[in-house]
Amino acid sequence: MLKIPSEIRDQMIQHANDGLPNEACGLFVGERLTGKNLASEAEHKNNEGDDGEEVAAKNETEGEATIISQISQTSQATQVTQFFPMENAAQSVELYTFDPAEHMKVEKLADESGVSIVGVMHSHTYTAAYPSPTDVEDATNFDPFGGWHYIIVSLQHETPELRSFRIIDSVITEEAVQFV
Ligand SMILES: [Zn+2]
Repeated sequence: MLKIPSEIRDQMIQHANDGLPNEACGLFVGERLTGKNLASEAEHKNNEGDDGEEVAAKNETEGEATIISQISQTSQATQVTQFFPMENAAQSVELYTFDPAEHMKVEKLADESGVSIVGVMHSHTYTAAYPSPTDVEDATNFDPFGGWHYIIVSLQHETPELRSFRIIDSVITEEAVQFV
């Protein structure tokens, strides 16, 4: 489950458009929501040994929190907090690579701000928002533990489409995206 502020979604789509005709790419940072509002819910559930109904009922008045809580019981929720648009060093219409110096700069910026990079965004200019065999290969090489979120913005149709995936052991799993 990935929560993306609308401004960041717009930045990503803008970056995808700016990169045309080539693929565009970038890294994003975020924070896991499970450690905060969700951990207490899980604890509550464990302590009470209930079947989940009580948790849902408890949150009924908290609106959005209910949705987060229900989803996080099956998967971790992550909120994207910042996007770093980057150059596609490959200058290619069908793949992307980071410029090593720019990559290091972004890692350093994130480090200095005490935040973590949680994934990569890239665009598909004429195909669907779904990982290509190259994307799966890259994920296996550069993210062997499958910790990252893979956002793909497709410009295939007039309305851009943004989807997010986890890629673990070459297995692609789409995750829910919520714009906030
Ligand atoms: Zn791709």
